[in-house]
Amino acid sequence: MSRVKKTNTKPELIVRQIAHRLGYRFRLYRKDLPGNPDLTFTRLKKVIFVHGCFWHRHDCRLGGRLPTTRPEYWTPKLERNVERDRLAEVELCRLGWDVLVVWECETRDGVLLVDKIATFLNSKTELDNG
Ligand SMILES: [Zn+2]
Repeated sequence: MSRVKKTNTKPELIVRQIAHRLGYRFRLYRKDLPGNPDLTFTRLKKVIFVHGCFWHRHDCRLGGRLPTTRPEYWTPKLERNVERDRLAEVELCRLGWDVLVVWECETRDGVLLVDKIATFLNSKTELDNG
């Protein structure tokens, strides 16, 4: 498997800490799910991806930065990341999972981030209303 995925990054640790403090249990990097989500809340059928802005080309200042050294190597690599993210998300939704993406730059504002994660985890899926 040639896939290089950094694990236990600082933004991931921040997100885990918040989810944990909110009282949720989760699993890390479930290999049986598309994209190996960073956090999986099995019972809720929800997953969270924590994306580095540069590696996943977020639409922010960090993500807009293009590689200056060996762009012929990095640019396609980053584009593959984005495509892989998109496919994983589509596939997870198809399987009935709720997906939240937390960007690295969002982990710098703890208050907003707690709010975002709490809202996502507390929300009921539409199926529950039927
Ligand atoms: Zn960003």
